[in-house]
Amino acid sequence: MSAKPLTDLSKLCIHTITTKPWNIETAAKNFSAAGVKGITVWRDTLEGRNIKKTGDMLRDHDLKIVSLCRGGFFPSIDSQKRKAAIDDNRKAIEEAAELGTNMIVLVCGADPAQSMEDSRKQIRDGIATVLPEAKAAGVKLAIEPLHPMYADTRSAINTLGQANDMAEELNSPFVGVAADVYHLWWDPALEQEIKRCGKNNHLFAFHICDWNVPTNDFLWDRGLMGEGCIPVRKIRSWVEATGFNGFNEVEIFSNKFWAEDQHQFLNKILKAYQEKS
Ligand code: ZN
Repeated sequence: MSAKPLTDLSKLCIHTITTKPWNIETAAKNFSAAGVKGITVWRDTLEGRNIKKTGDMLRDHDLKIVSLCRGGFFPSIDSQKRKAAIDDNRKAIEEAAELGTNMIVLVCGADPAQSMEDSRKQIRDGIATVLPEAKAAGVKLAIEPLHPMYADTRSAINTLGQANDMAEELNSPFVGVAADVYHLWWDPALEQEIKRCGKNNHLFAFHICDWNVPTNDFLWDRGLMGEGCIPVRKIRSWVEATGFNGFNEVEIFSNKFWAEDQHQFLNKILKAYQEKS
């Protein structure tokens, strides 16, 4: 039997949180040296930095800034907190523009003190409120549905179908969806919903990692592609069948890997990406 073809690195993006022990300068230097082409920047890595200069530094390393992670967390039973969330999303839009990226990933949020329907309504209203600023800044907003195990506090949008519904309702070229295999792999409607995303031209981002069996921690135990049960390559083929031409973004939160030497971990990412993604 012949080996499966290797995936080349031209569409490989890594999230800064994946190599969390590295600051953004170290990550940029090492990603670039390894042939990684894209970076998604988590906002915590920008703290205390000149954002525009940080964007220039990333471009100097030949890294495309795929997105800023993350905005969202719109719902709250408390109107003051909802207002603070709108302000924070406006700030994220400014940061994205300064950094020089045209996309923000939205982890939409949820408040267990109210119904899921109320949380979803507040998400929709929150996105609609900041949409004019996003549009003016040329920044797209990507709704990322989260696995239902996070439906209590992290997101009331839990399937790609719900994210598609919301993107269609908001009906703007600046609102779309981020599909993350970790959150969506189990969904029997996944292939259909990816197709629907493509038809509406709003599949903005594709995140990859794997689901460890067993999973030891529901937040900090994501696996490398090929280590778990997610058919990453199959899902990528559905994504690409829509005409998606963006990056494959490696987003791994892992206490295990963060405890390792990050150079070794980066090598493992490259190998897993080429062989299993
Ligand atoms: Zn993601």
